[in-house]
Amino acid sequence: MSAIIMDGKALAEKVKDQVRAQAEGLARTPGLAVILVGDNPASRVYVNGKKKDCAQCGFYSEEYALPVETTQQELLGLIETLNSREDIDGILLQLPVPAHLDEQALLHAIRPDKDVDCFHPYNVGQLMIGEKGFQPCTPAGVMRMLREYGIDPAGKRCVVIGRSNIVGKPQALLMLRENATVTICHSRTQGLKEECLRADILVAAAGKAGLVTGDMIKPGAVVIDVAMNRNAEGKLCGDVDFAAVQETAGYITPVPGGVGPMTRAMLMENTLLAARMHG
Ligand code: NAD
Repeated sequence: MSAIIMDGKALAEKVKDQVRAQAEGLARTPGLAVILVGDNPASRVYVNGKKKDCAQCGFYSEEYALPVETTQQELLGLIETLNSREDIDGILLQLPVPAHLDEQALLHAIRPDKDVDCFHPYNVGQLMIGEKGFQPCTPAGVMRMLREYGIDPAGKRCVVIGRSNIVGKPQALLMLRENATVTICHSRTQGLKEECLRADILVAAAGKAGLVTGDMIKPGAVVIDVAMNRNAEGKLCGDVDFAAVQETAGYITPVPGGVGPMTRAMLMENTLLAARMHG
């Protein structure tokens, strides 16, 4: 058996087309401001991607590429200005920020109705209690992919590897919201293989290349690889040994071309939602 490969790239294009069509129906063009501090090459690639996505969706976008020595006060001032601008619906602070900055304080300064990454405690709380609103882009992208492929998490055993605030924890919450029975595994989990073997849906987000091997997969399971690692040859790869796992799994996401493009598409959806909220 060879797993069905879930095409995140194609689905992301479809989602962005839908976002564009819906944005055209709004009275005002949605606007996204992206703040990048320092010269992390990976962050630069992500920011360029977001600008491209905005153009594709017909959004207005602004980029603030700030020097590494930018102070907390300067950033708080910029966020405050963007918070009060009517043409800006979403504000995104590209992470990580340089070590001298207080990342949490900056994220908390973004107005919750412009927090399109869904990192503000208000939005995290809303997510926790199951209210409508923003959802973090990566876990939301995973859920959208499942829906597209007709996979209903209800009653299924879902194992999430990773407990970060941006991927693992919100992923578990969204699975729970869809009535899955959820287990969260992490760096201190004992018996990871046994936990994974029970999973109908396995989401790998540890950031460890080769962590999930073929013998950890229940036959027919859905395997979602969120991670983006570099292997020994410098090639992009996930946590999952794709070649081995696809022999046993029922569905599998590739890296690249799986969750990554969906994350970007969900940011566009969140920006559209913010624009709707702002009337
Ligand atoms: P993180 O480092 O904050 O968290 C990693 C988690 O994995 C931790 O909770 C840790 O306990 C767990 N972990 C580490 N080693 C483990 C092990 N051996 N066994 C079990 N659990 C283990 O990372 P993150 O921000 O959550 O990102 C995770 C991965 O997802 C990274 O590779 C990152 O690049 C990728 N990512 C991808 C996207 C995307 O759009 N595709 C978005 C965000 C993050």
